[in-house]
Amino acid sequence: MRNILTAALAAGAILVAGCATPHLDIAEPDERQKAEAAATLQHARIGPPRNVAADRMVPTVRRVIRRVRLASHAVCTDLKLPEERCKPMLEAKVLVHTKKKDINAFADEDDNVGVYGGLVRHMGTDAEIAGVLAHEFAHVMYGHVESKKINAFIGGLILGGLAAAASAAGGGDNQQLVRDSTSLGWEIGATAYSPEMEIEADRTAVYILHRAGFPLNALQSALLRMNRARAKRSSGTFSGTVGFLETHPSDDRRHAHLISAMEDVRAGKPLKPVEKK
Ligand SMILES: [Zn+2]
Repeated sequence: MRNILTAALAAGAILVAGCATPHLDIAEPDERQKAEAAATLQHARIGPPRNVAADRMVPTVRRVIRRVRLASHAVCTDLKLPEERCKPMLEAKVLVHTKKKDINAFADEDDNVGVYGGLVRHMGTDAEIAGVLAHEFAHVMYGHVESKKINAFIGGLILGGLAAAASAAGGGDNQQLVRDSTSLGWEIGATAYSPEMEIEADRTAVYILHRAGFPLNALQSALLRMNRARAKRSSGTFSGTVGFLETHPSDDRRHAHLISAMEDVRAGKPLKPVEKK
């Protein structure tokens, strides 16, 4: 029995190592970028939320989704990722869960993306919504959801064989790419990504935003807005929750990486894939 467990753990370790392999070669931000990130987190001015009404949420997401899709697909193709990773950029369903008040968005294990009503409501611009979508599309592009699932599985094994089977999400109407939904099927989406996956998805999102013609700082300002909303929540002036920051940890290092990605785009540097050995 012990041998079987050891073998399972060893196989798991190989799987995790394989899946956690980064796709991009990303340098650590320098001291200047880190200082700028800390200052931005503390002092950036954030405009008011738009308070988008429930019946305007789907049209709001629909306004940006095509640009995000095409730009994500172009970035995926530029990276020479396999077609099965690029195809979901055009075909993934984007579900708007209008009744969910939390500020959150997910990529799920079926390569679909979900956005909560609270997020659409609280963002200040279409570009900020595009920034969050670009980040989720990047998770799909790199198969991060699959990596999370395997990490969770291994975690379960280590904790005593508690690997919970993720519920198989039901089929869906593929034609209707943006639609209302109140269903939940995102057990996997609710677990946290590793900080390295976040940084990879953020950097890619900045390139997607650039390609789609949105302001480069759109994801940065979406994250700053979430940080502020969370701060307000702890002081009691905001009653919702900011689930996005629980599953996508946001700190100085992450913001420094965002600043570095924006600088690289402005300097015309392409995304740098890791060298294959
Ligand atoms: Zn993320």
